[in-house]
Amino acid sequence: MQDAGVTARDLEAENESLRASMAYMMEQAERNHDIMCRHQAFDLEIVGSDSFPSLVSTIFRSLPVISDLDIVTLSLVDEGEDIRTVMNKLGVDFADFPHLVFVDAVQALGFVPSRNDLTGPPRPLLGPYIPATHQPMFPQPPAGLQSIALVPLLRNKRLIGSLNLGSLDPNRFTPAMATDFVEHMASIISICLENVISNEMLKYIGLTDSLTGVYNRRYIDRRLLEEISRARRQQYRISVMYIDIDHFKLVNDSVGHPGGDEVLREVAGRIKDELRLSDTMGRFGGEEFVALLINAELDAAALVAERIRASVAGTPVELQGGAALPVSVSIGVAVLNDFEREHAIEHVAQELLAQADNALYKAKQSGRNRVIAYEAPPA
Ligand code: GH3
Ligand code: MG
Ligand code: MG
Repeated sequence: MQDAGVTARDLEAENESLRASMAYMMEQAERNHDIMCRHQAFDLEIVGSDSFPSLVSTIFRSLPVISDLDIVTLSLVDEGEDIRTVMNKLGVDFADFPHLVFVDAVQALGFVPSRNDLTGPPRPLLGPYIPATHQPMFPQPPAGLQSIALVPLLRNKRLIGSLNLGSLDPNRFTPAMATDFVEHMASIISICLENVISNEMLKYIGLTDSLTGVYNRRYIDRRLLEEISRARRQQYRISVMYIDIDHFKLVNDSVGHPGGDEVLREVAGRIKDELRLSDTMGRFGGEEFVALLINAELDAAALVAERIRASVAGTPVELQGGAALPVSVSIGVAVLNDFEREHAIEHVAQELLAQADNALYKAKQSGRNRVIAYEAPPA
């Protein structure tokens, strides 16, 4: 029975080792399950992002945690700076996103086409972090960054950017490593990015005037409500300026509608040039513009209005055909005086615009090419 004893002990040992490896496999499976769950939650979170800032901040905040990375950055192709311009207009402050990098051309991403015919999609680049090559993708690298993965972001085979992952562990990303997982992650991020960017573009188009490029009435109306409510909370003045081009019908009659359009663009530009960055202005319709001046008393607003008037009247507008056309504007100015919390903001906004419009009417009546500040009728 000696043999049987040995066999039993062998079996026990084998059993033990099987159990150990089962436990190990279970642990691995649990860990993988855990990773998958975290990634699923991440996917859901980024798919649900409804704006560019919320998407990129989710990526920068969550991805390093769930993937155990020491840095995550994004490079985005932005030829002609369209994305940056629109995001700026929508109030995105890029200083909030130090790990977001814009490149002006696809070549700056540093990928090489995967096939000899130069048409294949680029492959992820994995390997050691080489500052001279990779610093542009990691503007603020953590100390001791060792290995990186640059994963192409592709939409319909078009390269829109790269997802850049970095680790202090030199073995985290090596050239021989499988890349399915990071590529899958990049494909979801690409879809989300394209989605929010086109949404932001649409939002922007919906808020701007296509002829002059300044904000439209919808935006100014909304912004006025926001500004009034903030002015109420923080107790500062805001003024409104109603600007109308004088005898614009005659402008159209003399230089045609396209010439009139050129005048509209030029006048919009001259108005903008006299305003501060914190002020907002838009085309309210036809040949009318409205400007909101933040933290400006009536006197100060009237001075700015006078500068605008002088700037428009001072230099004739040069048209593409070579003609120079004298143009003038009349401006009505009013200041927010109604800080009563119980008054509906919509009503207060309408009242403020009506006062500026009333002053504009007086400016027209008294000869045009002038600025009139609203005066409340004597009680
Ligand atoms: P006033 O000095 O009293 O303001 O006279 P006006 O001729 O400027 O005012 P009115 O409101 O009678 O005419 C505005 C003109 O603006 C009429 C319209 O054809 C023209 N207009 C409106 N929108 C556009 C546009 O997008 N392009 C061009 N070229 N003209 C426009
Ligand atoms: Mg008008
Ligand atoms: Mg007019």
